[in-house]
Amino acid sequence: MMVVGLTGGIGSGKSTIAKEFAALGIAVFNSDEQAKALIANNAQVKKRIMAAFGEEAYQNEEYNRAYIAQIVFNNSEKLAILNGIVHPALAKYFKQWTKKQTSPYVVKEAAILFESGSYKDCNYIITVTGPEEVRIARVMARDHCTEAQVRARMAQQWSDAQRIALSNTVIENIDLESAKEQVKRIHFQLCQSL
Ligand code: ATP
Repeated sequence: MMVVGLTGGIGSGKSTIAKEFAALGIAVFNSDEQAKALIANNAQVKKRIMAAFGEEAYQNEEYNRAYIAQIVFNNSEKLAILNGIVHPALAKYFKQWTKKQTSPYVVKEAAILFESGSYKDCNYIITVTGPEEVRIARVMARDHCTEAQVRARMAQQWSDAQRIALSNTVIENIDLESAKEQVKRIHFQLCQSL
């Protein structure tokens, strides 16, 4: 199965673009959502997180996100331990999921496609971009947060230039209609290449 990685900085519009691929009948895997689901429900993942971070990682069976966040925030060693548990489990689940899909290719949407190393499992990579000021305004409106909070999250991610250097193509998401046209063009190219 051909795997198309879809990534982009915060507020670039990855989820918006992913919906357009889904509308064309393409199976979309949302890595962020699936990682959250594994952390919440996968017995092996839960056991390993508790072994690494203590029983407090779960409260009444529920993942204690705030507790883990304050441990891994600004502590790259602890973050690497958490990622070392979640990323391999997610990669394994993605492989199983892929086998069940019947669309001509699948899209793997991931905010940290490059940072996590999972871009290596993709046959083709799309980066979604947009002007920084537009992206910041979108996230402030969506998440009801401040510009400083958005910039802090941006600072933890790769830059557009780094992402684009390792991508096959770029979708410029400013005007939605033109972004949709770009999705269709890429979709037909991908279908022809199969
Ligand atoms: P994150 O990495 O933060 O999850 P994302 O890259 O998935 O973000 P989206 O959630 O798709 O981005 O888009 C961010 C916000 O901007 C959303 O509220 C979305 O509706 C809006 N948005 C996305 N693309 C456009 C567009 N072309 N025109 C107007 N609004 C847009």
